[in-house]
Amino acid sequence: MKWTVLVDNRTNNPSLEAEHGLSILLETEMHSILLDTGASDVFIRNAERLGKDLSTVDYVFVSHGHSDHAGGLKHFMKINDKAKVIVSPDAISGRFFSKRGNLHSITTAWPEIPEERLLEIGHSESIGDDIYVIAHIPHIHPMPEGNQHLFVQDKQGQYIQDDFRHELALYTGGLLFTGCAHSGLENILAACPLPVNTVVGGFHLLDNHESEIMLSELSHRLTDTYPQTQFYTSHCTGNTVFAILQDVMGNKIHPFSCGTTICNMTDNISHAPRNLRLGNHHSLFREAQHSFLCEPSGLPCRRVLE
Ligand SMILES: [Zn+2]
Ligand SMILES: [Zn+2]
Repeated sequence: MKWTVLVDNRTNNPSLEAEHGLSILLETEMHSILLDTGASDVFIRNAERLGKDLSTVDYVFVSHGHSDHAGGLKHFMKINDKAKVIVSPDAISGRFFSKRGNLHSITTAWPEIPEERLLEIGHSESIGDDIYVIAHIPHIHPMPEGNQHLFVQDKQGQYIQDDFRHELALYTGGLLFTGCAHSGLENILAACPLPVNTVVGGFHLLDNHESEIMLSELSHRLTDTYPQTQFYTSHCTGNTVFAILQDVMGNKIHPFSCGTTICNMTDNISHAPRNLRLGNHHSLFREAQHSFLCEPSGLPCRRVLE
């Protein structure tokens, strides 16, 4: 499999546009999956510049309801007439706000999605035989401090703290995509019943929120609990946070930016499932993978702030 960052907050490629958002194209042997759509149509322009044909995408996965991940969906629906849309019903119905700086809406303007293309996910389930979507992630480990700025508006117009029921994670072939990881990276990993070789996404660890000690302890827990896992992050992971995580995690954590392409080589090593109660999902964990960087990337680079 191969994944390519179409949109991120950071770019070090002058021909690619950055924005506050995330969109990644994941190409496997069986599927072309668009992981989030960024905030606008920037991901489409960047895909053209990278020679990626988005009309052949067969699944688009929307990790949560915030407009920096789902805002590009209305543009995608104009250039692709077949992809199934994987999304939580709570993402579509929710009204989302941020109180970071001035109170502002981060609700998505959703396009019309034909019923036969809409895969609303209300509980964790397999799609086909090689994609597993995780929903309603239990919050047993600490949640990101940056969530304190994020609210949903109830029917009475009151702003209540977001509980992130609208957040999904996607797993296929050893890769776990976390979107923004508002539910917390450890919670998402704990909710995944399959062996994870590679974690990709924002970690929602904003600079000046978690203390250095908290971040250092988190890094140790991640490396101790998931010694075989590689972590790739950017978007809502701060530069200072990344440096602190990398101090502990070393070559287990990597930055990405617009245009980063990672190829995962397949080993065909069988893994025993961890606490698997999902029925027959053998193809989900059939392959072990090694990653290598196809295109150079790295921090620091030009960055778009929220
Ligand atoms: Zn978000
Ligand atoms: Zn985000």
